[in-house]
Amino acid sequence: MDSMSQASSTGPRFQLNEEQEMLVRMAREFAADNIIPVAAEYDEKSIFPADIFHKARELGIVNMLIPEEYGGVGASCFEEALVSEELGYGCTGISTSLGVNSLAILPILIAGNEKQKAYWLGERAGGQGQFCSYGVTEANAGSNVAGIQTRAEKKNGAYILNGSKTFITNASYAHYYTIFAKTDLEAGHRGMTCFVVDRDSPGLSVGKKFDKLGQRASDTAEIIFEDVEVPEENVVGAPGQGFYIAMKVFDHSRPGVAAAACGLQRRALEESVKYAGEREAFGLPIYQHQAVGHKIADMAINYEASRLLTWQAAWQVDAGIFNPRVPAYAKAFAADMATKAAVDAVQVFGGYGYMKEFPVEKLLRDVKIFQIYEGTSEIQRNIIVRELFHKS
Ligand SMILES: Cc1cc2nc3c(=O)[nH]c(=O)nc-3n(C[C@H](O)[C@H](O)[C@H](O)COP(=O)(O)OP(=O)(O)OC[C@H]3O[C@@H](n4cnc5c(N)ncnc54)[C@H](O)[C@@H]3O)c2cc1C
Repeated sequence: MDSMSQASSTGPRFQLNEEQEMLVRMAREFAADNIIPVAAEYDEKSIFPADIFHKARELGIVNMLIPEEYGGVGASCFEEALVSEELGYGCTGISTSLGVNSLAILPILIAGNEKQKAYWLGERAGGQGQFCSYGVTEANAGSNVAGIQTRAEKKNGAYILNGSKTFITNASYAHYYTIFAKTDLEAGHRGMTCFVVDRDSPGLSVGKKFDKLGQRASDTAEIIFEDVEVPEENVVGAPGQGFYIAMKVFDHSRPGVAAAACGLQRRALEESVKYAGEREAFGLPIYQHQAVGHKIADMAINYEASRLLTWQAAWQVDAGIFNPRVPAYAKAFAADMATKAAVDAVQVFGGYGYMKEFPVEKLLRDVKIFQIYEGTSEIQRNIIVRELFHKS
């Protein structure tokens, strides 16, 4: 074991089985060969990594949740989290783009019928390698999911969608969307329904494409619905179940997001170990100045703790235990610790940390979104408080 890997995997650890070890190795090599060399350029020019997605698809490290009976690899949430950490280590902008298909297909996986799974998962996402996006957020409803206003009105055996979604990852490139809309405006969260909507539907357009602080290789855009007719057979689950589906999706997707934040932490840690061992100040390698060494020690502690929580959350999902508290712990902790690690890595690098020639500047820009998307850090804590005080 070289000193780099020693820095990031010390102490007693849960043993991965041989297949999982292989998966990690494959994803790590993939990130080293295909992501890290282009990450700075894709970030600077906001290049959508379609080429990398398709290469990853050949290896079975995207669309991982598609079950074997629909032509996928049928990975567990845990296995997907292992891959997510490795891709996130390479570049979280690119890993976000690669991971969104899994988020978008989750509603169908959780609540869809056989025909929907075979078509949208098996044929479209898996077989044809199409992109899909997940659309909940609206200009006036982000944290408050139940407050969405996109309307789906039933007419002549179909639903007519009107409204818009914002900040939707991969929206400009997606071939279809899983969209949450209100079928009953008076029924609060019980009036929400989930639909699969084809990109080619008349009346659907992609609106503003956002220019972002970080994760610039991922696409973020608006979707606009103007009298978009969606066949009744595209309702996922039953009308009125949308809110519950969205909440289950988040339980399942948060371990993967936390895992990507772990990847960013490990990158911050390893870059810091390397630099602090080489850079000298006052005649000593800077890690020997305790203030610097301790920062790096904290990065190592927080990375290990984040990963343990992430693995626990993923394991819980795979065990069929739907308790939102643990994914919320993992997502909040990994996001907060990744943010701290990125800030501290820039500090360890001093002035060079602020420059684009060194990788930690990008980590700092990329990391902030982890405290915002898939439920902000405040919302994760609200979930934890709710579960601690209002559930036995
Ligand atoms: C790059 C990017 C990609 C995204 N991708 C997707 C996607 O693919 N699909 C999708 O549907 N959405 C996506 N989102 C949306 C994202 O999930 C929301 O931005 C996020 O949930 C926060 O919603 P908001 O922006 O409306 O903030 P608001 O809800 O307006 O919150 C603003 C601030 O107030 C705090 N706040 C709000 N309510 C409370 C409360 N009750 N208690 C404590 N604090 C509170 C928040 O934590 C936050 O700090 C993405 C966003 C970004 C920036």
